[in-house]
This record gives sequence, structure tokens and C-alpha cells, in this order.
Amino acid sequence: MATADDLTLSQASLQDYVECRYRFRLRYLDRLAWPAVEAEPAGRNERRLRDGAEFHRMVHQYVLGVPAERLRELAEHRTGAGGGGEPAGWWRAFCEDRPADLPGERFPEVTLAAEVAGRRLSAKYDLIVVQDGSRAVILDWKTAERRPSEATVEQRLQTRVYPYLLARAGAVLNGGQALAPDRIEMRYWFAAHPHQPAVIRYDRDRFDADGERIAGLVREIAELPLDRFDRTEHRERCRLCTYRSLCDRGADAAHGEVEEDMEQDSWLSIDDGDDAAAFDYAEAGEVPF
Ligand code: SF4
Repeated sequence: MATADDLTLSQASLQDYVECRYRFRLRYLDRLAWPAVEAEPAGRNERRLRDGAEFHRMVHQYVLGVPAERLRELAEHRTGAGGGGEPAGWWRAFCEDRPADLPGERFPEVTLAAEVAGRRLSAKYDLIVVQDGSRAVILDWKTAERRPSEATVEQRLQTRVYPYLLARAGAVLNGGQALAPDRIEMRYWFAAHPHQPAVIRYDRDRFDADGERIAGLVREIAELPLDRFDRTEHRERCRLCTYRSLCDRGADAAHGEVEEDMEQDSWLSIDDGDDAAAFDYAEAGEVPF
């Protein structure tokens, strides 16, 4: 069993902790894989996971210089060959909108980390663009069918952790110069809603508040006795959880609720690849187990 001292925390693990301490324990301390399907039909969720990963790879290749048209041909060939996925459609939306085409120095799939309350906190970003040596835009691709509300966007730990860590550790992307919080912006781009991005303009007040909130969570996790990682009282959070049969919170997967839960729970994206155990529970709808 791992201890909290061994962990590198991420937005995904912190999100798990605030949603269910017991899930955090099972996933990150006990490292327990539990063979439950989060949502039915399982094949559809597997396909969404595969499609989301494929779309992220395409954007990464595009940022590295592969022509958009070439990527479109490859995506449509794969779809036409029976892949049945959505990346080709998402890619058309991406090419119309070109959210990655910001001027500046681009850093795709970059990981930043900093010490917070004595523990390591890390984040893997889809894309960071540093502009004029003093401004930075964080871009994050989401492939959920439904766009979450602004309130949901605000509540996600990702919205706090990503800009906070960039302000803390972004000097490595900016010639050694720190990036001030009020020069940081975060944009979620939703492939199914390309004209409705969520934009978060960061500032010093948010930075201070996020620092306190994140450090508070990190300390709480470090100090919590193992037998106090309790099951959530919000039973609706169990419906898509892989551990629900273990917790006696229902043996069957939620049926057809992936889209319906998107607003509340699911951000279909491929985040935090820096920690294999730390996939975002919010992505549970597309992660087969
Ligand atoms: S089934 Fe519910 S109580 Fe059990 S780990 Fe998952 S969210 Fe927590």
C-alpha cells in the first residue's frame, strides 16, 4: 500500500478526494483495480476513451507541425475503415476554429510540478502558449458530448490547479521569468461545442485563494488517518464509480447515463497522463475497467 507521503498529487487525485475520500484511498493508496464497468453500454465507453485519446494525439501532432489536412485524411480513413469514432468530426470543428493557432511559443503535452504543503503537485497540460514573454494561455481539449455549465467549470479542481501551477512553475517555459497570475488565461475548448469555449482569466486573488485551497487539501490528505477516508454520503457519485460493487452501492453500471451526467460529473478528456493511476474520475464514463 502506498502512503500519502509517496504520492504525487494531481488535479485528478484531488478531484477524487473531494468527491469521495474512500475512492481516493482505493485508487491511490490501496491501488486497487476493481473490475466494474462504470456505465453501460461498456463498448460505447471504450470507444469514447479511444476517440478522446485519438483526438488529443491529433492535436499534439498538429502543434508539432503535421499538416491539418494530412491529419484529416488519416482520421477519415480510420473512421471509414470501421473505427466508427468521432475524431474526424471533432477534427473538422477544430480546423474551422483553430483554437491552437495562437501566436507565441507553444508547449504541447508539457508537465509542470511544484511543492505544495510538503508534497509534489503536478499537472500535464494539453497546450501552453507563452506570448510576448509575459503572458500565457493554457488550452485544454474536452471531447464530452455536453458542455458543462460555467459553475461546473469553476468547481473543477483542474480549473484551480492548472493556472496555479503555471504561475508557480511556469518560469521554465519563459526563459526563467515567472508568469504573473494576472497574465495567465485558461481556455477549455469543447470539440462538440467549438464556439462555446470556457475562458478563465486568472489573477492574484484567485492565485492566493487557490493556493490556500490546494494546500489545505494536500495537508488534509497527508494527515488523515487511513480509517477516515470515508465513503461519500452523496450516493449519486457512486453511479459511475468502478468501486460501487465493493462499496455495496449497486452492482450494475449506470445505463446510458454518460451524457446525462456530463454536466455534473464527466469531462471526457485525457488528462494527467503523468500518473497512470490518476485518471480523472470525471472521465469515468469513458474509461473501461
Ligand atoms: S462507490 Fe461511492 S462510496 Fe464507493 S468509492 Fe465509489 S464513490 Fe466512493
